[in-house]
Order: sequence, then structure tokens, then C-alpha cells
Amino acid sequence: MHGLTEDQARLLGRAREVAQEAAAQAATTDRTEQYPWPMVRRMQEAGLMGLTIPRDQGGPGLSYFDAVLVIEELSAACSVCGRIAVESNMGALGAVMAYGTPEQRRIAAGLVLAGDKPAICITEPEAGSAATEMTTRAVRRGDEWVVDGVKHWITGGGVSRLHLIFARAFEDGRDLGIGGFLVVREGERDPPGLVIHRRIPSMGLKGMPEAEIRFEGLVVPDAMVLRPPGGFARGFGRLMDAYNGQRVGAATVALGIAAGAYGHALDYAQRRRQFGRPIAEFQGLGWMLADMSIKLEAARALVWRAARSAGPAGFPDRLAAAQAKVLAADTAIEVTNAALQIWGAAGYSRENPLERMVRDARMFAIAGGTAQVLRTQVAEQILGRKLPQTRDGFLRLEAARLA
Ligand code: FAD
Repeated sequence: MHGLTEDQARLLGRAREVAQEAAAQAATTDRTEQYPWPMVRRMQEAGLMGLTIPRDQGGPGLSYFDAVLVIEELSAACSVCGRIAVESNMGALGAVMAYGTPEQRRIAAGLVLAGDKPAICITEPEAGSAATEMTTRAVRRGDEWVVDGVKHWITGGGVSRLHLIFARAFEDGRDLGIGGFLVVREGERDPPGLVIHRRIPSMGLKGMPEAEIRFEGLVVPDAMVLRPPGGFARGFGRLMDAYNGQRVGAATVALGIAAGAYGHALDYAQRRRQFGRPIAEFQGLGWMLADMSIKLEAARALVWRAARSAGPAGFPDRLAAAQAKVLAADTAIEVTNAALQIWGAAGYSRENPLERMVRDARMFAIAGGTAQVLRTQVAEQILGRKLPQTRDGFLRLEAARLA
């Protein structure tokens, strides 16, 4: 592949071997809706979990870009495995590695290297895109915090051990801002006050549980508060900086699914004959394949650019991450649908991977910042101005400017 180092080519080779096994079990994972623990063990053995964990924490200290190479390969075979690779390299893990205390980093690294896929808990029933409207509260009580609230659509709820919970922090009745609180489930046991309330049935990525999690007087020691520079006052912004890594990861899974679907379509179009000729000879299909390849290369270019924008200890650039995720998510929906079309009825059958890929692709325009919200983020940055989304947001901005 273009311009990879020898180490990266070797890493990709390792990912390809695991991806072959991932492909073989992807349909079963989808049908049974079971988290693919055997694949987790395989990925862990192959050293594909915790790639971005620094050497001083026992990881190989690879870059976001290296992780992206692995994630695309796995996602083309099994999207659930791809998502496990994202969250065991980016997201909550990235936030802890960047902002955590030595003890927090040790705990997170140990869990991930042992096969954990951490969960990140932001979204609430009444606070989706408007995440800062979250009502989950963490109230200080001496050297601990008591967390109450409800989160939903939490990926990995019920299988993840490390949880990064976003909550509004209060001390002596004062609202300090939004902070991150780290909680670990011991094996299958939930700490008192952390309740995996229910699994939410979902359209795709069925091997990955999505859960509603309730916090009912959950006690978090102060030592497990993740404090980015600037403390709670800048907590949400800094934690969301870390989330840019997760966005690039999600974009890569979308890209990988699209690449997998394209590969199936390219192959089938040359094998399947109608009217006495391979269907690839029909110009209508040739142009579809051409468009699919163009979209894929464009999405890959943005994903790679975003991944490479991350400095050694930093996160990917916000604009680059949003642009990559928007394009990769749209591409995944378009390319998987086109691939299914090229397969005709066979593509619609559950005996072939395309109908699963169409379903799996759908979520990337929703989760981790919807297609609309991310376009607004892109617009804000290219215009160099804030675009408040609340009804009175512009009025408050203007008042602050005049004050
Ligand atoms: P809403 O915010 O209610 O939006 C509904 C519609 O309105 C969307 O089309 C949206 O684009 C549009 N809209 C809203 N506001 C605006 C605006 N200002 N301008 C234009 N359009 C707007 N959350 C977590 O915290 N952790 C997870 O691990 C996690 N995993 C997820 C996995 C899956 C499979 C899914 C589907 C979701 C997951 N989420 C997770 C939640 C996800 O981040 C939210 O779904 C997302 O932020 C959108 O919130 P919402 O679904 O409540 O939609």
C-alpha cells in the first residue's frame, strides 16, 4: 500500500491474518448477536489491542495512523471487530493516556492489553447531539464523588470493564462544569450503583451490545476523576478533543466496511454472467464500480490525513477528523448499497455478507456526532466563527461581544 514503512507493512500483514479469521465468524456474530470473545482473544494475542498505548505503560507506542491501518483491515472483514479495535486504541483510552494520573494510565493500559474494550458514556435520553445538556451529576462528598443519572446507547455496555463517564460536577452546590469519571467493572460484576439496565436492540453491528446504563449513587474516588488541563471548567472541551481520535476510528470502520463491500462487488461483477457476458461488461455497472472506487479513495485520503494530523502525544485535528468522518460515513452507506445492488437478489440474502454490511454501515452517520452536527462543526471552523445551535445562542454571543 502507498508509502507504508516496513514496520507498517508487517503490522498490516498481521492484521490481514486476523481479518481472515474475523471474516469467517462475522455472520455468526451477526446472527447470534454475541460479543465475539474468541476474536477479542485472537486480536489480543496478535497484539492488535492497545497499539497506541505508550511503551512506558507496556504497549508498543504506535501511532493513530498505525491503528487506522489495522482497523480498516479488520472492519472490511468484521465491523464489530473493527469497532473493538477502535475503542481499544482510541476514545476513552486516548483520553486516559493523555490526561490520566500515572495510576489511571496503569489501570487503563492493563485492562486494554488484557482484552478490554473501554466504554465511553456521554449520551443521555434527553441529551444526544446537545451533549452539554446532560443531567448526569457527580456531587463531591469529601474525597469521593457520587454519580447519578442515565446514559444510553453505550457501546459495549455489559462487556466493557473500563468506563469513562461524562457527568456535570458539583461541589458545595456549585456547578464546576463537565468532567470525566473512571469506573471499572470487575469481570462480570457491576460496582454498586452502576446498573446495566437493558440492551438496546440495534439494526446493525449486532455483536456489539448497545446499552442503557443507570448510575444510582455510584461512588467514584477522587483519584479516579480524569482531570484534563484546565480542570472541570475546560473539561468537556478537552475530553472532546480526545474524542477526535474516536471519530477518526469510527471513520475508519466505515471506510473498512465500504472497502470490504467494494471488494465483494468487484469480484462478483466479474464472475456473474447474464445475457451471455460478465455483468461487469455492462457500462451501468462499470460506472457504479468506478464511482465506488473514487469515493473509497477520497474517504481513505481524508481518514489518513486526519490520523496523521495527530502529534506524538496529541489527538487528531478537529476539522480533519470531522471532515473524514462525514465523508467516510456517507461513503459507507453509498458503497455498501451499490455493492448490494450489483449482487442483485444474492446480495439481499442473509447467506452473503452484503446485507449485513448495509446494516452495519448505517450507524456511522449517527453515532459519535451525526452527519448534520459534524457538518456544522466543519462550517464553524472554515468560517472561523461560532454557530450556536440554541434559539438564543446568537443573542448571548452578541451580548458577550458588546459587554
Ligand atoms: P438527536 O440529537 O436527537 O438528533 C436527531 C436528529 O436531529 C439527527 O438527524 C441530528 O443530526 C439532528 N440534529 C440534532 N441537532 C441538530 C443541529 N443542531 N443541527 C442539525 N441537525 C441536528 N453515545 C455514547 O455516549 N457512547 C457510545 O458508546 C455511543 N455509541 C453509539 C452507538 C450507536 C450504534 C449509536 C446509534 C449511537 C451511539 N451513541 C453513543 C450515541 C450517539 O453519539 C448519539 O446517537 C448522537 O450523538 C446523536 O444523538 P441522538 O441519537 O439523541 O440524536
